[in-house]
Amino acid sequence: MPEMKRVLLKLSGEVLMGDQQFGIDSAFVAELANEVKAAKETGLEICLVIGGGNIFRGMAGAAQGMDRAQADYMGMLATVMNALAMQNALEQLGVPTRVQSAIEMDKVCEPVIRRRAERHLEKGRIVIFAAGVGAPYFTTDSGAALRAAEMKCDALLKGTSVDGVYDTDPKKNSDAVRFDTVSYGKVLADNLKVMDASAVALCRDNQIPIVVFSIRDKGNLARVLSGAGTQTIVQDQ
Ligand code: UDP
Repeated sequence: MPEMKRVLLKLSGEVLMGDQQFGIDSAFVAELANEVKAAKETGLEICLVIGGGNIFRGMAGAAQGMDRAQADYMGMLATVMNALAMQNALEQLGVPTRVQSAIEMDKVCEPVIRRRAERHLEKGRIVIFAAGVGAPYFTTDSGAALRAAEMKCDALLKGTSVDGVYDTDPKKNSDAVRFDTVSYGKVLADNLKVMDASAVALCRDNQIPIVVFSIRDKGNLARVLSGAGTQTIVQDQ
């Protein structure tokens, strides 16, 4: 496990819907906020990026005949809603936060300003980066990799519904094998399901380890951070 002082935690939108099929399950968001709070209490500086897949995905809109860029902007707006939901849940637990959006929305949150984000982290606030990179044809995984690079995070923690990276899809294949560590090159060459290729390449080029773990098990984020959890680390070997 890399030594970590500052991390970027990426949560896919799907984890905010809990057991629902769509949208935001407030009780589940509150549980997630608890996990994030526990991680922060270990002394880490935390940047958060949350996806939008629980509300809207550009690809889904495009598949129904929408213009892709237009649909992607709707997806970016979905991530802002999720960021606000998470901000609310964290602040109800007494954790100070700021939301910075790559699409300016000054009634709702701050714009992305790196130096300001830096200051928030110094003051012990969690910074939630919304709207991905602010451009269509990208995903929030790329947003996470970009913010991890510019905020000089020691690792990108990718919390999903599986406990790491497997050689084949563990939901379809009962004999799929989980990697403890795997190189960026193998992830890209074998098209392993971690994050989209542009996000993985950005992490590789900036030597940011990607820690893939399950955010669905209670207490797992803290276990992973302490080195006692189950995860896959993507890094050069
Ligand atoms: N999106 C985008 N540019 C970005 C980030 C997100 O166009 O930089 C759009 C894209 O349509 C995407 C949607 O926002 O499908 C929601 O984000 P994502 O699919 O990454 O969410 P997740 O899968 O993590 O829930």
